[in-house]
Amino acid sequence: MHKVLVIGGFDPSGGAGLQIDLLTLTELGVFPFTVATAVTIQNSKNVSDVYALPSKIILEQIQTILQDGRVDAIKIGMLGTEKNVLTIADFLNKTNIKRVIDPVFQASKDFPLLSPDAIPAFKEHLLPLATVLTPNLMEAQKLVGFAVRSKSRMKTAAQALHKLGPKWVLVKGGHLAHDKLTDILYNGKDFFEFPHERVRARDVRGTGCIFSSALTGFLASGHSVPEATQLAQEYTLKKIKTALKIGKGRPQAWL
Ligand code: PLP
Repeated sequence: MHKVLVIGGFDPSGGAGLQIDLLTLTELGVFPFTVATAVTIQNSKNVSDVYALPSKIILEQIQTILQDGRVDAIKIGMLGTEKNVLTIADFLNKTNIKRVIDPVFQASKDFPLLSPDAIPAFKEHLLPLATVLTPNLMEAQKLVGFAVRSKSRMKTAAQALHKLGPKWVLVKGGHLAHDKLTDILYNGKDFFEFPHERVRARDVRGTGCIFSSALTGFLASGHSVPEATQLAQEYTLKKIKTALKIGKGRPQAWL
């Protein structure tokens, strides 16, 4: 049994964060350990509040899980505060377990999931430690400081982000304004392109979480980064197509 340690926010409505990470990894047959960094108050319509946990409690959860055995990969999602960013960076500096870092800055409906004053610390201390960094266009834009709205700008952004230290950068093109979407993967030498269709009228919750969990799961089970990217993209598209309207708002993924 391959095992993944997910570090992220708790969404009681099950559309995003740890709940959807748990569903994704379970469905892929990888065991998910889930360390909570925050409790979010949300439903299928919006996020209304966020209570980040103290970093001491996050670290105690991580240490206790890791005392119990090895994990094959780590996924970092929502962190909430600068203190939590620095604590997780310090923890990652002490281990060589491969890790996917998803820059979770804000919910689709604009509610901040990382305090805006923590973004410089994220960029300086956490981002360089990624095996794979998985920004969407808005997150890439926030990190590089220029607009990222085309395939060529995605490549430039991937190069700029790679210079900061991560082994691989995956810029996700799901928010491009046309129908031919592409994700761009870069390792400092080669670009890999993963074109995919747009699934129209499907504003599914938590798709970033689903993608980065699936990617981490496929890495944990021994796939290369390009293989894991392809498989995670296929899995995410399937989840978007089969998502259900559980509440009154956006559809969410289910089995
Ligand atoms: N809640 C948590 C805990 C998350 O980690 C995320 C995204 O990563 C969201 C909410 C936002 O989900 P969405 O982008 O679907 O609004």
